[in-house]
Amino acid sequence: MDARFDLEMPESCEEALTLLAQDGAVPLAGGTDLIVDLRARRREPRLLVSLDRVAELRGIAAKNGRIEIGGRTTVTDLVRSPAIATAAPSLVQAGMAFAGQMVRNAATVAGNIASGSPAADLVPPLLSLDADVTLISTRGERTMPLAAFFIDYRKNAGQSDELIRTISWQRPPERAVNAFYKLARRKGDAITVTGVAVTVAIEGGRCTRARIALGAVAPTILRAQQAEAMLEGKALTPALIEAAAHEAAGQSRPIDDIRASAEYRRHMVKVLTRRLVSQAAERLG
Ligand SMILES: Cc1cc2nc3c(=O)[nH]c(=O)nc-3n(C[C@H](O)[C@H](O)[C@H](O)COP(=O)(O)OP(=O)(O)OC[C@H]3O[C@@H](n4cnc5c(N)ncnc54)[C@H](O)[C@@H]3O)c2cc1C
Repeated sequence: MDARFDLEMPESCEEALTLLAQDGAVPLAGGTDLIVDLRARRREPRLLVSLDRVAELRGIAAKNGRIEIGGRTTVTDLVRSPAIATAAPSLVQAGMAFAGQMVRNAATVAGNIASGSPAADLVPPLLSLDADVTLISTRGERTMPLAAFFIDYRKNAGQSDELIRTISWQRPPERAVNAFYKLARRKGDAITVTGVAVTVAIEGGRCTRARIALGAVAPTILRAQQAEAMLEGKALTPALIEAAAHEAAGQSRPIDDIRASAEYRRHMVKVLTRRLVSQAAERLG
């Protein structure tokens, strides 16, 4: 690979943001997407701003029931975190099914979000948790729901001089189940065919929160909001779960590709949604 760019290795967010304010500057985290793109000449930045030494961007904090993870936090950090194990089991499940160990050690949460891939495995869990994303630049800071960050296929609401600083969410209530299932052609190192994440809370025999996020079945990862609305406020009977799973499949817009047909993907949205919501209902009694 010919190096046609400069590389800077700042040690603070402030320094990184000043560098990113320059034309043609791009942040580099684990490089597991970006380096592949550079080699294929899909992107030709003038300056790479490595985040490797920006310690303040990496870490997991739990405060007042809110979990906050730095954008530079790696998949391995997530999988090994006791706080994530209880506050977001779906993220651990996604991390365990993510690539192989070497990629997990490098790949970061912000890189997964910013890559814009419809098959990005950390995104359905984060959407099912109602996560917010906080962006910073030399112009200031803004926070938005992660669901609003994704605009279209590989297009997001971030500006070229902005960094994803943190991703945060309120810990789900006690009587909630949060889970993710990645369907792929192998258990490791395989691109997702269909990914479904759910958060289901039940109080007094009724569903008080339903979140269903779908990966690899539309140009962006999306929430099946009509299906969620069918479940909320009701007792989760098998017939209702079946109808909501059918609705979730109807909200997906998959394509045929070398891994699976659109029809199979749509069918698996229904199967996985039904399975995860049924398991949650059983666990919560
Ligand atoms: C062999 C292999 C297997 C893989 N398997 C999987 C898998 O199973 N599941 C999956 O989801 N993905 C997989 N990937 C894709 C990739 O590993 C992930 O998308 C990863 O999370 C990207 O993170 P990164 O830190 O490497 O990002 P980078 O490659 O460094 O960057 C990716 C993009 O994010 C931007 N970026 C990085 N950090 C920030 C920030 N803080 N703020 C704003 N923008 C930022 C970069 O500028 C770039 O545009 C795989 C990749 C490889 C090579």
